Amino acid sequence: MSEIKFGVLGQYFHCPVKGDFEYAAHALILVDQQGTIVSVLTDSDTQYHAQIEALSAHQQLIELSPTQYLMPGMVDLHVHAPQFPQAGKGLDLPLYDWLQDYTFPLEAKFEDMVFAKQIYPQLVQSLLANGTTSAVYFATIHKDTSVELARECLRQGQRGYIGKVNMDEPTQCPPFYIEPSTETALKETECFIQQVLAIEGNEEQLVSPVITPRFVPSCTAELLQGLGELVQQYQCHVQTHCSESDWARDHSQAQYGKTDVEIYNDFGLMTSKTILAHSIFLTPSDHQLIKSTGASIAHCPLSNMYFANAAMQTREILDNDLKCGLGSDLAGAPIPSIFHTCLDAVNHSRVREDGTSTYLPANERGEQGSRISFLEAYWLATVGGGQAIDAKVGLFQPGFEFDALVIDTAIADSNIFILEEMDSAKDKLEKIICLNSRQNIRKVWVKGQLVVDK
Ligand SMILES: [Zn+2]
Repeated sequence: MSEIKFGVLGQYFHCPVKGDFEYAAHALILVDQQGTIVSVLTDSDTQYHAQIEALSAHQQLIELSPTQYLMPGMVDLHVHAPQFPQAGKGLDLPLYDWLQDYTFPLEAKFEDMVFAKQIYPQLVQSLLANGTTSAVYFATIHKDTSVELARECLRQGQRGYIGKVNMDEPTQCPPFYIEPSTETALKETECFIQQVLAIEGNEEQLVSPVITPRFVPSCTAELLQGLGELVQQYQCHVQTHCSESDWARDHSQAQYGKTDVEIYNDFGLMTSKTILAHSIFLTPSDHQLIKSTGASIAHCPLSNMYFANAAMQTREILDNDLKCGLGSDLAGAPIPSIFHTCLDAVNHSRVREDGTSTYLPANERGEQGSRISFLEAYWLATVGGGQAIDAKVGLFQPGFEFDALVIDTAIADSNIFILEEMDSAKDKLEKIICLNSRQNIRKVWVKGQLVVDK
């Protein structure tokens, strides 16, 4: 057995089975020097008491109090890092105005390293404090500050997947925020990949480069082709937006006569390490193509309500066993918390199920049977997200990375109220999912490294 770094003793929740949960009351989780879980013991295991004694003698035992719960770290599959200063602004505008008036001028500022260094540390710190141990980031078109974001994740110990954004189609990009040329975009992307892989201290690949075409309309076919070749060459992760709105879907049909999923597949961009943000207007054959390529979907429930024109097929995606996790889509939604995104995902599905128009009879108003449960949303945020990033995170099982949070439900300024004699384990877990805020998150580990400690 590899050398133990520490053990955590206490109660935990996780969701090995989609739609269900597991609760352990007095578990001992042993973590090795590499940050990997080596064993999960209960008091019926013969080694349990001896291990506790040994760890305790060497100050390697972290014992949780009865109001503290160990939970897997949260995975955010879709964050626009440069939009952090924009969070909470202008979300009642139409998408076009929001992008032109706020987003593109802000993203263009990240050419400036001094500006980027002012923003990115705050963002990473905020996500970690909210329990996001893994984050998949869109940066901007600028290579150097995108590498800086990767460095910042590494500095603060967050598992980061970072993309230098690509957008070169002059009819869709503002003149002040566009690649100088397709060739430059490809050269800079390749250089970005090499630089992120070579960052000092990144030998274990805590941060990874992600090939990132912004979306079909903002990229020329030559750019998509070139990015697909880089994907094959470097076997990198890929992220992009997919069939997000009526406009985006219709644009792809008009230009290529195909769906976004088909277009990405034609250009070699659909692999088991591809993350498709939004994916609202999926056809049945898109479902099949996503499944056969092993690509994943990032469901961004709140920003979809603002900008997607329709509701997500979350129920069908879960039932068809497509790979799927949750994304905050900061700043298309303002809240940097995947716990909050869980609540949004449930709300989103309920509005879809019930429908909205009071002018229609109840049975014609919504799409029956389309709700998802809190446990399913939480599974998406942990296990589903882990599968999408191709990392062994989201579960407390031997061989998984120790990415974990300690939630304390009894701090002075808590929204969570637990009544021991009335609340079952499931009640407690649902309360934590719905009511948790960053004050409740007392400790955060990524790969066995303590990165938040209150
Ligand atoms: Zn987005």
